[in-house]
Amino acid sequence: MSAMSVEDKLHRRVKRERAARKEAEAILENRSRELYLANQALRQMRDMLEVRVEERTIELQLAMEQARAADQAKSAFLANMSHEIRTPLNAVIGLSELLLETELDEEQADFINTVRTSGNSLLTIINDILDFSKIEAGKLELEVMPFNVYSCIEDVLDMFAPTAGKKQIDLAYVLEPTVPDTLIGDVVRLRQVLVNLVSNAVKFTETGEVVVSANARPIEPGSSWYNIIFSVRDTGAGIPADRLNRLFKSFSQVDTSITRRYGGTGLGLAISKRLVNLMGGDLTVESIVGTGSTFTFDFDAEASDSLIESQVRDEHAALYGLKMLVVDDNGTNRFLVERHASTWGMIAQPVESAHEALQLLQTASFDVIILDVHMPHVDGLTLGRLCNKLYPDLPIIFLSSSTRSELTLDDLTYASFLHKPLKPAQLLNALLRLFMPSDQTPIVIPPHNPNLASAKNMPPMRIAVAEDNPVNQKVIGLMLASLGYTADIVDDGRQLITLLRQKTVDVVLMDVQMPNMDGIQTTRHIREQFPADQQPHIIALTAHALSGSREQFLAAGMDDYLSKPIEKAALIKKLKTSAA
Ligand code: ADP
Repeated sequence: MSAMSVEDKLHRRVKRERAARKEAEAILENRSRELYLANQALRQMRDMLEVRVEERTIELQLAMEQARAADQAKSAFLANMSHEIRTPLNAVIGLSELLLETELDEEQADFINTVRTSGNSLLTIINDILDFSKIEAGKLELEVMPFNVYSCIEDVLDMFAPTAGKKQIDLAYVLEPTVPDTLIGDVVRLRQVLVNLVSNAVKFTETGEVVVSANARPIEPGSSWYNIIFSVRDTGAGIPADRLNRLFKSFSQVDTSITRRYGGTGLGLAISKRLVNLMGGDLTVESIVGTGSTFTFDFDAEASDSLIESQVRDEHAALYGLKMLVVDDNGTNRFLVERHASTWGMIAQPVESAHEALQLLQTASFDVIILDVHMPHVDGLTLGRLCNKLYPDLPIIFLSSSTRSELTLDDLTYASFLHKPLKPAQLLNALLRLFMPSDQTPIVIPPHNPNLASAKNMPPMRIAVAEDNPVNQKVIGLMLASLGYTADIVDDGRQLITLLRQKTVDVVLMDVQMPNMDGIQTTRHIREQFPADQQPHIIALTAHALSGSREQFLAAGMDDYLSKPIEKAALIKKLKTSAA
């Protein structure tokens, strides 16, 4: 075999290399085709994705629109439900209240009373359900208005004083001096939480006491913002430890057999907890079966300046150094009277029984004696009679959970008769009436309980009512008549405007939902079209329970509002305010 020439070798190599390059080029071409295809596919995918995203966005927007519409329908439904249910209830409660003021025999009065209380219970249940749905729908907004803490607690305790009195449970409150007089927040919702807790406490307590306490600490030293802590303690049945976690769940009651005895929806605590959460705080419970329960809640609120307390403080001088004997078998009440007395500069000596009081009176002298009426062994009235005989110059102030008409007091001489729960302002007033020099005008503390406001002495005013529902027309007309007013009643806004053109009206009670021209449109029209000297005070009558209604009414030019069913006491208060 002849050796391969160099030339041949070179030739072959070039050939091999050429083939390799071709192959590489083919691979490259393949790769770039693949790349091109992949790119193409990617571009298609991206286009598809973009279309999909666009479609999804539209779908989402549609879903959101639908949800918003459903939400609006839900709140419109709530408002309508509330209207539909409250309107007939308005008639049931209002008319039975009026019937009770007429001549009735005992049995009839009892029947009507049952109708009224049942109406009220029904209203509570409806309010509970509506509130719960509102909270769940995120529709509940809190008001921000200054309110008096004393009045808020006292209003609540006043509601339960008769029931507590009947059960012989002591109802009291302790407000630490750190709690600002006036807070800024939603008093209606705070009252609602307190009403629910106190109502449960009174319901589930057979003996002993229910005490509401309030404390506050500034969030930072010197800050006008406070953390307010409320607690409601009872000496009732208590709640088993394994049931405590179920308490705040909706529709849950600890014991269904007890529930049947006491009634209730099982929504109260769930609503209260959510309301407190909305206020930025929390509601908790501690309980020992057989000993009692304590519900505690807190929230942050800003304090508002108040003149009332400082005015009252200046008037204490007349009480300074006076000696007071306090006779009460209930420790909390003794503590409360003693504490209040000492803040007014008085020296209080608390004792537990009539026996101890009589012993002390033999050796020491006192300027005034505070007597609890219901005490075991020797009661307050018996001790009062003894004091009248032995110490005729010693003024007596009675404290009682019964009303004056339930007791025999004719043969007694006493300075004042105060109802429990003890209200510091009332005790102070009673003491000042006794000890303030007669040339000084006594301070006037406005009545804390609007229910006690007298129906007489109503200011003279011309009233018109615009209301389309004939039953409501009747109820309001009769209520106003019982207060001495003959009101002009019209069916809608148009008729009201015609009336206002013909005669002067001081106050208009204006239904919000009316055909032809509703309350808001009518108010706007009056505010825009009538001269300043013909502008009536307008009070909205509303069955709407939704939040935000208030702002809407005020923005339309209304001055105030009353929610249906209208209570006579509330009506009196609003009419008096309108004349002030
Ligand atoms: P209701 O409207 O049925 O009273 P709540 O949510 O207010 O609903 O209370 C739920 C349950 O919690 C009550 O039915 C009762 O069993 C129990 N409960 C609430 N407060 C007390 C209390 N102070 N003492 C004993 N049990 C209580």
